[in-house]
Amino acid sequence: MKDYNNILEKLKASGNLRSLPDVVHRGKWIEKEGQTMLNLSSNDYLGLSSRQDLRNEFIGQLQENDLPLSSSSSRLLTGNFPVYSELEELMAGRFGREAALLFNSGYHANTGILPALTDKQSLILADKLVHASIIDGILLSGTPYQRYRHNDNGHLEQLLAKYAHEYEQVFIVTESIFSMDGDVADLRRLVSLKKSYPNTWLYVDEAHAIGVRGKNGLGIAEEQDCIRDIDLLVGTFGKALGSMGAYLLCSRTVREYLVNTMRPLIFSTALPPAQIAWTKFLFEKLPGFTDERLRLSVTSHLLSEALKGKGGEISASHIIPFIIGENEDCIRTSLCLQRKGFYCLPVRPPTVPKGTARIRFSLTADITEEEIKELIMNIGK
Ligand code: PMP
Repeated sequence: MKDYNNILEKLKASGNLRSLPDVVHRGKWIEKEGQTMLNLSSNDYLGLSSRQDLRNEFIGQLQENDLPLSSSSSRLLTGNFPVYSELEELMAGRFGREAALLFNSGYHANTGILPALTDKQSLILADKLVHASIIDGILLSGTPYQRYRHNDNGHLEQLLAKYAHEYEQVFIVTESIFSMDGDVADLRRLVSLKKSYPNTWLYVDEAHAIGVRGKNGLGIAEEQDCIRDIDLLVGTFGKALGSMGAYLLCSRTVREYLVNTMRPLIFSTALPPAQIAWTKFLFEKLPGFTDERLRLSVTSHLLSEALKGKGGEISASHIIPFIIGENEDCIRTSLCLQRKGFYCLPVRPPTVPKGTARIRFSLTADITEEEIKELIMNIGK
């Protein structure tokens, strides 16, 4: 039998042991071990999940509509409440796409869609830095795959030229804003590449961009004006949309095919209807959160510029990595900032490549310029 205790001890000795932190949330503040800190590691990018005004308005509506707190079943059995299709229709309309399909989480979406759509006659070409959930989906699918160098469309083009003709279909898979580096994919370029290979699909995960980017908050695909050209447009509700769950925008045929074949959709209890109603409530208001999007872009730019002066690279989004290198140095810097009232977490291998341990700042719209300036002063010390 494996000695798991021994393995845990070794993880601890190498500074890689993880634990579940005991934290209390108060809006943009987080309390840990009696200390109150500014939360600089949140995914609640628009600051919506804790907004009392929105909550009060929603709870009023919820009481009128009497929505259950459990669906008690998969949507394919008895769990298909009308609110699911209401949100799907709303989303398909907003994005100008034929169909939308909801999932319990981004993890479910990314581990379910590719295994359902691909087979041994397919090839998956995925960016080297795609999220673990996409990698798990690729591995679960058992489909042949190759990784192209991060955001290197030239490399992707070489792989397409070399392999596309050998397969019935090819899936290009990327994120729009990358979760650990905060950089942005050139979706328009990917669309034009896809168009030059007729047997190719484009799969884009907008987990970190939905809500935050684009005039109406519909993500980088909206910002780069290519929503209709992305065959499989995925996003989550657990970040800027202040809720839980995920979506896919696609054709009617793909939607129907997934309803028939996608295992995490078929074999899991659907999200509570009340949760979906909260998502719908926020999604309806999404175009109106322009001030939040503007504030977030101003503070992101401020922090990013300051870190550039300290050896970092300029980030094109609200996810701003401060790459430190070695695990121990990174942990030390993060603990030092925490003691000064800034809750920021170290991200270490295997989540990021070896030697690139970093503090991943992810900003939210309720953080002020003054707070960022104070953070910058404290990083310098
Ligand atoms: N895709 C990306 C790019 C992510 O970063 C994450 C989670 N951090 C997910 C998918 C998973 O989404 P969820 O948390 O809704 O499972």
